[in-house]
Amino acid sequence: MSGAELVLRSTRVITPEGTRAASIAVTGEKITAVLPYDAPVPYGARLEDVGDHVVLPGLVDTHVHVNDPGRTEWEGFWTATRAAAAGGITTLVDMPLNSIPPTTTVENLRTKREVAADKAHIDVGFWGGALPDNVKDLRPLHEAGVFGFKAFLSPSGVDEFPHLDQEQLARSLAEIAAFDGLLIVHAEDPHHLAAAPQQGGPEYAHFLASRPRDAEDTAIATLLAQAKRFNARVHVLHLSSSDALPLIAEARADGVKVTVETCPHYLTLTAEEVPDGASEFKCCPPIREAANQDLLWQALADGTIDCVVTDHSPSTADLKTDDFATAWGGIAGLQLSLPAMWTAARGRGLGLEDIVRWMSVRTAALVGLEARKGAIAPGHDADFAVLAPDETFTVDPAALQHRNRVTAYAGKTLYGVVKSTWLRGTRVVADGAFTDPKGQLLDRA
Ligand SMILES: [Zn+2]
Repeated sequence: MSGAELVLRSTRVITPEGTRAASIAVTGEKITAVLPYDAPVPYGARLEDVGDHVVLPGLVDTHVHVNDPGRTEWEGFWTATRAAAAGGITTLVDMPLNSIPPTTTVENLRTKREVAADKAHIDVGFWGGALPDNVKDLRPLHEAGVFGFKAFLSPSGVDEFPHLDQEQLARSLAEIAAFDGLLIVHAEDPHHLAAAPQQGGPEYAHFLASRPRDAEDTAIATLLAQAKRFNARVHVLHLSSSDALPLIAEARADGVKVTVETCPHYLTLTAEEVPDGASEFKCCPPIREAANQDLLWQALADGTIDCVVTDHSPSTADLKTDDFATAWGGIAGLQLSLPAMWTAARGRGLGLEDIVRWMSVRTAALVGLEARKGAIAPGHDADFAVLAPDETFTVDPAALQHRNRVTAYAGKTLYGVVKSTWLRGTRVVADGAFTDPKGQLLDRA
């Protein structure tokens, strides 16, 4: 490892070949070698020995709503990327909506990049948005470096980001397929939502009934049919309904180019435990029953679901009223996604290698960053999370870094304490202390 400037050593390093004792040699921002544990440290290199703490590749979270600029009282690049870094995430891709402007033109993308540039504590990329009237902007956005395009098939919750009807979806997909782009979709069918009982109020059961599984299943079926028609690449965002899993498996077997994500809240929280009025648990589609959750875990294990992302989507606390019908829908999960997932996974006999596959390897691949991110391997960015997997902590909202300290995990005791997070060879957070922002803005490779 001659030339190495840093050697990060642990008895448990998660590499693509498995977990082993290793010394990771880092030069500049890159991993240059993964060597035996007791490999000699070259003259002049700095040794960081983290003992038995696990070193995993920094997580890649491809579903984050930063809301900056425009709704920075909800969240901003400074606070979101600090929360992410504290949670072991080293790359995030920002959703095109809830900021004003939304990321739907090249000029708006430029505005977003300017705002993010000095505030990013981790690396940040951007999704573009597909709206009813911006088909002409999709190719220029693609060429300007967005990782793909988000569309809604039902109302998004904000006026400046209208959803696509069937015809508009077809038009956007045809255009995106023409340059082999990726369409990522919030799949709930507006007609099924409109037909569902809308009782409102603080009862979680009423809210759950208002966002039924068949709204998701129908929208996903529509999307899969359109993807097949245009031979387009599509990605199902935040899958909650396990009833859609057979449709997805069938479409894939039929050659449809579809990937699927779900979120920690669908995998670790259940409808049965949501207290009435507790809208910090509100998101769309909703957290469903425990039996549904078991099937999501099974789908992760068998590969029907590819990856796990936070869908971090906070608002100010005053919008989280106790009426589920009108409260803002979104769960703030950046800082807690790794321990929440690890706690649930270990309870199901799954390992940290599985978490790395779902939250790092496959999310990096989703956005085409797999040559650079998501693995502890030579040539990759030296992005690491150092985790004490057997230590526990009780979630105290006051200890969270995101702007509005509302969380569905308050009071839960979780396994997995992130000791430090490393971004391209620099330790950017250790035991709650942060460096100045060192994040870069990423373009589609
Ligand atoms: Zn989202």
